[in-house]
Amino acid sequence: MINNNNDNELQFIKGVGPKRAAALIESGLYSKTDIVRYFPRAYIDRRSVSSISALADDIRNKEYVKDNNEFFSSVLKSEVTIIAKIYDANVKTFGRNKKAFIIILADSSPSKAKILFWNKADYFAKVYKAGQIVVVSGKPELDDRGFINFNHPDIEIIDEEDIELYSQGKILPKYKITEQMKKAGVSMNVMRKIVQNILYPALDSINETLPASIIKQKNLPEIKTVVSNLHFPEDSLLLEKCRYRVKFEELFYYQLAIKLKKKIIEVSETAPAMSEKSKSSRVLYEQLPFELTKDQKKVLREVAEDIAQSKPMNRLLQGDVGSGKTIVAIFAMLMAIDNGYQVAFMAPTEILAEQHFHTIKKFIEPLGFKTIQLVGGLKKKLKTQYLISISEGKANIVVGTHAMFQSDIVYNKLGLVIIDELHRFGVSQKADLIQLAKKSFSDFPYSPHILNMTATPIPRTLTMTVYGDLDVSVIKEMPKNRKPIKTKVGFDENRQEIYNFIKEEIKSGRQIYIVFPLVEKSDKLELKAATEHFEEISSEIFPEFKCGLIHGQMFWYEKEEAMTAFLNKEYDILVATTVIEVGIDVPNASVMLIEDAERFGLSQLHQLRGRVGRGADQSYCILMTKSHYKYLLRRNDDIQNEKVAAIIRLKTMEETTDGFQVSEVDLKLRGPGDILGTKQAGLPDFKYADIINDTEIIMDAKNFAQKILSEDPQLRNTEHALLKKNIQKLYGNENSFIQIA
Ligand code: ADP
Ligand code: MG
Repeated sequence: MINNNNDNELQFIKGVGPKRAAALIESGLYSKTDIVRYFPRAYIDRRSVSSISALADDIRNKEYVKDNNEFFSSVLKSEVTIIAKIYDANVKTFGRNKKAFIIILADSSPSKAKILFWNKADYFAKVYKAGQIVVVSGKPELDDRGFINFNHPDIEIIDEEDIELYSQGKILPKYKITEQMKKAGVSMNVMRKIVQNILYPALDSINETLPASIIKQKNLPEIKTVVSNLHFPEDSLLLEKCRYRVKFEELFYYQLAIKLKKKIIEVSETAPAMSEKSKSSRVLYEQLPFELTKDQKKVLREVAEDIAQSKPMNRLLQGDVGSGKTIVAIFAMLMAIDNGYQVAFMAPTEILAEQHFHTIKKFIEPLGFKTIQLVGGLKKKLKTQYLISISEGKANIVVGTHAMFQSDIVYNKLGLVIIDELHRFGVSQKADLIQLAKKSFSDFPYSPHILNMTATPIPRTLTMTVYGDLDVSVIKEMPKNRKPIKTKVGFDENRQEIYNFIKEEIKSGRQIYIVFPLVEKSDKLELKAATEHFEEISSEIFPEFKCGLIHGQMFWYEKEEAMTAFLNKEYDILVATTVIEVGIDVPNASVMLIEDAERFGLSQLHQLRGRVGRGADQSYCILMTKSHYKYLLRRNDDIQNEKVAAIIRLKTMEETTDGFQVSEVDLKLRGPGDILGTKQAGLPDFKYADIINDTEIIMDAKNFAQKILSEDPQLRNTEHALLKKNIQKLYGNENSFIQIA
């Protein structure tokens, strides 16, 4: 925007000087341009400010909705702001040496608010004094005496002048003020002045970043208006429009970039085109003990159409646990094999690889095809034997883990790659396997067709952003014979009742899982804990039933033995650590009892629950937790608080069996990074857009990018030259994928 690379230019700005300039630089603000782009992270605006009494009323009313569905919306709500005078500020001593600094706040409403500082009480006592006016933002609670309490809020001391502006209806920017800035005297007010001093003279030299035609079509404010209003909004309507534009622009460029990338791959890479006619899949189809669901059939058609093309398939198959993705993958494999190609099936863990290996073998060996399992730690002799079988093409299917893309493996016409739990692999791992596939053809470096699978159903707009370069298929419908699993949170006080229920289930022929969380850090302790739990359950709680044990410290064949024994009904109860999260499919198991369920993540709970409900019987999931968790909800709705988050997880499990809904709550609790491993998955780091909440803008940006590219696929129109230039600048270097002619 502005051309000036002098690092020291900031010190000459009015109100800065060398000391403050150094603090700004330490905070990542090196130049005038950086300051111009240092947009406020929030605003103080009349509409977002509440009186203390109104807040108290809000919280009281919320008590009534805490037990129905509105609960979540109120729990997950955003923060609130008050403007008030410090009425009283005192350091108090508790017990022998515990000190706290307490501030009482008052505004013109009858209620009062309170902030407690347990740490650095003396320090804060010097900062905040009676008589100051402060802006406080946070998530408040109401205490027994009617005080609004803020926990670790954001506090800003403001001037008379600001109050004046505010009372005139001005919207005031709130910048992020770092510790370094604070120490150098760059307070919120000083920062506002610095921005003002730099922004207005610079405004004229800011260049437009979108083509005029697009600004017009989308009715967007111009860049100068945007920059100026993001800092100092003229009014809230215009501010909204400006915020929309920066988010839209960011998402629009991203969508353009991934769509172009996809197109480039499509025209530059060639895949082996496979005939949809496959004798073996016809045979399997006829032998299948069940009818495929409509969704499964639909996905199969999509896959068959994809692999019939000479451009590589890159499809994502989303489907909840138990929705039947594996069988779809098996049909795809058979099509590839019948066309003379090898197939690689990659799973993130050895247990998962093993389960798939057995499932695939079961369906595929009777048809005369060979499956090999390639995992870490194979004996040298066996590995050599496997590698030969792979390179000679005797192995039709290779199932495995990370061991599959080591460079010493020579595949033989590897035409189809299937990746289970896509988000657990890195971009480069996938690329490595593609390279091996390309080398596996002697005549031409064909790119393989890729089918990615995931049991983490995420909202559509998020899929579009995170996996924007993939075509998406969804299996929504569960196989017909399934009854929705009933889920209940159980408290310690109901333990006896729950055990009696389990006994009844076993007596009527069902089997039970009892799962404990892994809490021990060392293998030895884990083993000890698992053994102790097992002892208690098998000899004290359920001595009349047969119990088996499976845990992470067992060898794979011991685990397999335990699983097989459970499947063959040699055990009524399988005591397990999370190793069964993925792994076994026992249709007769009807109860999943999870101990200390508050310790598990939401998606983990959902995956565990997916181990039951696989047969025609009614199944149950019981989430055991401590009795006192029952009362937590009434007092607190801060989702940053781990105990509250735990309760939300348990309640969510009770309320829905739909993986999409589960993952939506999980996203709110943990954010997409944690769930999708987005650094790995290559999720862009958006500066303005919020990929969870800005769903409408994401749709808008996507549709508009599509429209522009359908009119001008290579962005050749002169009016689109700016788009091309900016895509190059934003995404060009990263993977060097954008080289538009
Ligand atoms: P996912 O991998 O999606 O979690 P699976 O492929 O493991 O699910 O399928 C779960 C179970 O359901 C397997 O035992 C599978 O054989 C069975 N199954 C798959 N499709 C159907 C169907 N259409 N009808 C009945 N059972 C099915
Ligand atoms: Mg699966």
